[in-house]
Amino acid sequence: MQTELLIHADWMLPVDSRDSTLEHHSIAVDRGRIAAVLPRAEAETQIQAAQTVELPGHVLIPGLVNAHTHSPMTLLRGLADDLPLMTWLHEHIWPAEGRWVDTEFVADGTRLAALEMLRGGVTCFNDMYFYPEVTARVAAEAGMRVLAGMIVVDFPTRYAETADEYLHRGLELHDQYREHTLVRPAFAPHSPYAVSDAPLERVRTLADELEVPIHIHLHETRDEIQQSLRDHGQRPLARLDRMGMLGPQLVAIHMTQLEDAEIERLASTGSHVVHCPESNLKLASGFCPVARLLEAGVNVALGTDGAASNNDLDLLAEMRTAALLAKGVAGSASAVPATAALRMATLNGARALGLDDEIGSLEQGKAADIVALDLGSHSHQPLYNVCSQLVYTAASHRVSQVWVHGRQVIRDSHPLTLDEPGVIAAARDWQQRIRPAGESG
Ligand SMILES: [Zn+2]
Repeated sequence: MQTELLIHADWMLPVDSRDSTLEHHSIAVDRGRIAAVLPRAEAETQIQAAQTVELPGHVLIPGLVNAHTHSPMTLLRGLADDLPLMTWLHEHIWPAEGRWVDTEFVADGTRLAALEMLRGGVTCFNDMYFYPEVTARVAAEAGMRVLAGMIVVDFPTRYAETADEYLHRGLELHDQYREHTLVRPAFAPHSPYAVSDAPLERVRTLADELEVPIHIHLHETRDEIQQSLRDHGQRPLARLDRMGMLGPQLVAIHMTQLEDAEIERLASTGSHVVHCPESNLKLASGFCPVARLLEAGVNVALGTDGAASNNDLDLLAEMRTAALLAKGVAGSASAVPATAALRMATLNGARALGLDDEIGSLEQGKAADIVALDLGSHSHQPLYNVCSQLVYTAASHRVSQVWVHGRQVIRDSHPLTLDEPGVIAAARDWQQRIRPAGESG
């Protein structure tokens, strides 16, 4: 067989149905797709590749899927820390956004996010922010896969005045990107507390019609539940259920407040949950019952949330935090083992976004979204179990090579599609505008 690329590595965690660890295997890539996964000895006799990459001491994993981000918020990283969610949002984040967010902010912030994520092995992200058409364009230029969130809120911003206008702008994005290889649109109504019934019902109708996911913050804090009970006489999940929004298209972010019947309802409707452990910890939002959700059969993916509440977009670190936190919350050291954490960061993310036929595992026919990590350094020795080592000791700076849809975007830890010094300079420039050095918060 003739292929464009052949990658040889010491180990591979393909995230297949058996949670295999493959030793001395190779991946053949052709026209953006995985043409074969096979033992190295067979690859050497059967495959003639235009380019061969040797990765001794490395493990290959599927590109990581960051299932919840607000990528331009990288420019607000560290602006307001150590505050509760509503104070943080109302007194700091929303005013700063009202003052500064425009197309240039979104472009520069997304570039910084894309650089951090690609260097950390994230090849696909599910984004929610203003000017999603800019995020989509910048991500595609960086060679990264994105679900561009068609955001909806009740209140006016520079991006749009009314819920109708948000929807209208979103639908323009949908038309623009419906056939794109790397960009997919998704509806992104911010939260039940920021969007009223009429626009939510419109989102549900349009999402059915266009067959796109609905990406929404849900049950993030106890306050959110209490406010909903006061304003609507229902918990937010019940309110969405009343509007027919539960189902395989629903991608519910956070879910720290869950009753048993709600877990069953999520499972029976095939709704997805995205767990953002570091954001939940930092904002003291509560604990998502991940082990109980997984046990009930709910698909749980992983997200970092925005860099203003994390403060990084490091999904490898998030995987480790998720595996550790789940044990504490469940009171069981066997809750969310390493293989489950890796699955949440890859295939479960792909499933939540409706992309599991395309990405999420290293299997023949899927898109070639591939990440190589160097496990040769002192901090990974000795190496008894590759998946455990990846989840419990690997750090994002060990990511050495990244391909998205067969195109190499990181080589030897350096970006090939982004101008790193330029991206950093732009971020510093925004800091000077938003809060010059020396001025206190
Ligand atoms: Zn969020």
